Amino acid sequence: MVIHDGGASSSSYDYSSDSSVLQQISTRDHTTLKDAPLKDAPSNDAPSNEDESDNNNLNNTEQSRKTISDTRKFLKEHGTVAFLENYLPTTATSSDLLNLIINLGFLPKNLPSFDDEKIIGLIKLLHAAMKKVRLMRSRIHDFYNIDHVLSKVKLANKILVITGAGISTSLGIPDFRSSKGFYSKLESLGLSDPQEVFDLELFHTDPSIFYSIAFMILPPENIHSPLHSFIKLLQSKQKLLRNYTQNIDNLESYAGIHPDKLIQCHGSFAFATCVTCQYKVKGEKIFPAIRNKEIAYCPKCNSTRLKLLKNDEVSYLPESYGVMKPDITFFGEALPRKFHDSIKKDLLDCDLIISIGTSLKVSPVADIIERVPPKIPQVLINRDPIDHCNFDVSLLGYCDDVASHLCQKLGPKWNIPHPKYSSILGPDGSNLRVDVVDINEGVFKIVNKTTEAEQEAETAKLEAENAKREESLIHNENGVADEVVEID
Ligand SMILES: [Zn+2]
Repeated sequence: MVIHDGGASSSSYDYSSDSSVLQQISTRDHTTLKDAPLKDAPSNDAPSNEDESDNNNLNNTEQSRKTISDTRKFLKEHGTVAFLENYLPTTATSSDLLNLIINLGFLPKNLPSFDDEKIIGLIKLLHAAMKKVRLMRSRIHDFYNIDHVLSKVKLANKILVITGAGISTSLGIPDFRSSKGFYSKLESLGLSDPQEVFDLELFHTDPSIFYSIAFMILPPENIHSPLHSFIKLLQSKQKLLRNYTQNIDNLESYAGIHPDKLIQCHGSFAFATCVTCQYKVKGEKIFPAIRNKEIAYCPKCNSTRLKLLKNDEVSYLPESYGVMKPDITFFGEALPRKFHDSIKKDLLDCDLIISIGTSLKVSPVADIIERVPPKIPQVLINRDPIDHCNFDVSLLGYCDDVASHLCQKLGPKWNIPHPKYSSILGPDGSNLRVDVVDINEGVFKIVNKTTEAEQEAETAKLEAENAKREESLIHNENGVADEVVEID
């Protein structure tokens, strides 16, 4: 194989040979693809970065998913030498290398515009991408459909459940990172990085910033979703080894999940601690202050704080003196000790992994599934597929719907103890439908017919309104319409 890029090969750009300079392509995330430096990488297989209709985007997404899957499969089955012989032309250009990296499901980060040094970097990046793919978990050959999931749930008694924001969205709690989520709202407040709100140092310097916006993420009290109840059901049936949640809303506790069975990996609003004397109170105690956008002060430290404030001889009193901080894990803060104490043992102990409502992008929770023994089946329940993991079975759809479908199939002893369960199943129990998305990859979609009909009606309504608006504009242009055009 000869690789040329039509120039000399002096290199000053620092390409690391490890995979830290690679990012996983999310084939669902068109923003990532549009922002990525793909302009000089023409390929029939690679995802396009040009503006296209939604349909084309969808087709491209499916196409790129399949390309990535096929390319990875070939590499894992045939090894590096056969892979390079098969996928690269005898005289490979840097375009060929970049396309192959993309077809393995990665995008180089901060790639400079094409020049002489690029080809060496690309060779290293391709090497890193191939290494990462070869280390990826292989799916279990006899665990690939919903029946396999049901049988395993019946047999298992140490299920490790990983949860994320998706299990609370049905209650109207927004995902932090989604387009309508918390961080996007903060951008309007002028913070250069919305995550600064959770910066420990900033909290100590000026706790008022956190307290001015914390009301936006204050969890509702005493409610939980059918999915939370599904986890409680696993607990009641002695099948739950542990629920590792990335959520800070503490809704698991309202569902009745026992503290021993729950690891709130990023802390939660369950308690708040004084930053000065470590006095701890139940989270609900500081909720009124949060709702009023006022700083919550420690009852033990407050009189001292006020005295010190009055005392002119005290030249410096930290802004955070005697301030209560919710026990959510801030950036710059270690994960709760409970997480580290449990995870090592649980990784070796569990007999089934179910990951629910999380895109598994934030370490170290995201790393859990990579660290369990390869023989342990892994099931995904999520609205969208996750390309950077290799789940045995992926059940796509709304988490509440998917869990309800599984429990319906498991039988009447598995009724989810939640008031919404029966309405999700429908009066005659036929409200949920299973669509096969990709039988080879074990991907299924659980469709709620009621939700689907509502969404279709909503789309039809919007289309009709648009058509009406266009028609009225045309009429207006032709001078035959009313003088006043309604503008929404
Ligand atoms: Zn205190």
